[in-house]
Amino acid sequence: MKPVIPSRGTLEPTVFAFDGGFWGERQELNRSAILPHAHEWIERVGCLDNFRGKPFRGPLFADSDVYKHFEGLAWETGRRPDATFEAWMEEIGALAAANQDADGYLNTRYRDARYSDLEWGHELYSYGHLIQAAVARLRTHGEDELTQVARRAADHVCRQFARDGVCGHPEIELALVELYRATGAERYLHTAKAFVDRRGGPALRDTPRGRAYFQDEQPLRAAKAFRGHAVRALYLACGAVDVAVETGDEELLAAIIAQWEHTIARRTYVTGGMGSRHSDEDFGEDFELPSDRAYSETCAGVASVMLCWRLLLATGEARFADQAERTLYNVVATSPAQDGRAFFYANPLHQRVPGEIPPTDRESPRAGTSTRAPWFTVSCCPTNIGRTLASLSGYLATSRDGTLQIHQYANGTIDDVRVTTDYPWAGAVTVQADRERTISLRVPAWARGATLNGEPVAPGSVTTRGREWRLDLPMTPRWTRPDPRVDAIRGCVAAERGPLVYCLESIDQQHDDLDGVRVDASAPPSEEMTAPGEFLFVSEDATLQFSPYHSWGNRGPSTMRVWTPHT
Ligand SMILES: [Zn+2]
Repeated sequence: MKPVIPSRGTLEPTVFAFDGGFWGERQELNRSAILPHAHEWIERVGCLDNFRGKPFRGPLFADSDVYKHFEGLAWETGRRPDATFEAWMEEIGALAAANQDADGYLNTRYRDARYSDLEWGHELYSYGHLIQAAVARLRTHGEDELTQVARRAADHVCRQFARDGVCGHPEIELALVELYRATGAERYLHTAKAFVDRRGGPALRDTPRGRAYFQDEQPLRAAKAFRGHAVRALYLACGAVDVAVETGDEELLAAIIAQWEHTIARRTYVTGGMGSRHSDEDFGEDFELPSDRAYSETCAGVASVMLCWRLLLATGEARFADQAERTLYNVVATSPAQDGRAFFYANPLHQRVPGEIPPTDRESPRAGTSTRAPWFTVSCCPTNIGRTLASLSGYLATSRDGTLQIHQYANGTIDDVRVTTDYPWAGAVTVQADRERTISLRVPAWARGATLNGEPVAPGSVTTRGREWRLDLPMTPRWTRPDPRVDAIRGCVAAERGPLVYCLESIDQQHDDLDGVRVDASAPPSEEMTAPGEFLFVSEDATLQFSPYHSWGNRGPSTMRVWTPHT
């Protein structure tokens, strides 16, 4: 379960095997509900029929949903075998092989108009997901029909794009670097580097959306922040970090880190969500972070976690794990419904009117629903959740020179090390090793007053030698105040507890109107457990119950807000 294995860098990924708990339960939900649900829908909406020669249906990049689904199945069967998932992968591999041209070209939409529209056609983007699926299969199983299809496609890309061209939607870059890492074939790395370097030349035709939409208005290393279409920008940044790490390009790595810093400080929601504009799915300008019109696409959350992980591996700095944690608990965990059969595409922080329940027999418009929907006309997000939950064990811990680094806390094991915790509901984390060894534990930035074996420890990473550790992270609820330059939420506070952002959902309150609510933020929220992770806050004029943002919208349509005006 290692989606990213750099050949150099500061830290090396290692696998965290969950044993129940917050993420273990979601990984099981992925297996029992999300992946089967996705399979049913990619069949229903025609994604698989496109490979069977039927008239093309769906968005231009429908093929990519099939590959992202395959990637989720591959990681999941690597975790625990499953005959049904194997049969699905076998069929997808055979369908892909049957549609591949002799020179390696493969796309069910553009087969008669190859590369006629690099700006919008997503052909290279689709190869990117095909290649990521193949890397997952190579690392959990070995060669099969799909991995061979992906290698032929990658070789075709290296020949076809030897001199010029990039894809309107980045993704091929990070995929080619990972295929290089999995196979050792340097041509994949060279082509990925060429795609990163060409961008901003410019390399694409101008369109009414402008070149910044494609991150093509200036060279990547000259940019000050992530900009344009959020998912494109973040996948491109992932690919750039991968190229920088493998080629030793310190200048490129430093440029991406500087852009990340700017983006986190000025273009990121408290949930970790990115992309504030529905229009063009754009990052928006600095401090343009409206709660009610937040786009905060689930895929952008996934991509942000992918980027944080790469930057953590490259630098070893805890701040990247802090941001990954925030995004995992408050964007990635928010998208899937409790039953795993509906998803948020956009993740706004304020719902002003109760939404309508979307139809269950057809696709919903993307970002057009205010409650979770079973599937979308553009359905990139559900399969992204599937592959992320299936591979999440590969995003929590690392090792280096015999030292184990635990970046995220969950109940389970890492090799011979046992981690016992009810995190994120409780802040106590016990770590036990079979032998004396050196372990580094992350103390999250929010965890002021944390102790390790009874001794105070500051946020960051703390490294000690021993056989048993007891980390206590204070889970006192707290009010978070926004940067005053974010006009949309000036005068408001958000309730947080540990890594979780909380919200007010109308269904929990004594009245439906959340517009007139005020909280007294002069003292910290007072906690009263009503259920794990839920607490009451009592204000002067009303009783307000805050619940975790990630669980909102699971009890029917309601209004909701994360940021609340304070008196
Ligand atoms: Zn998406």
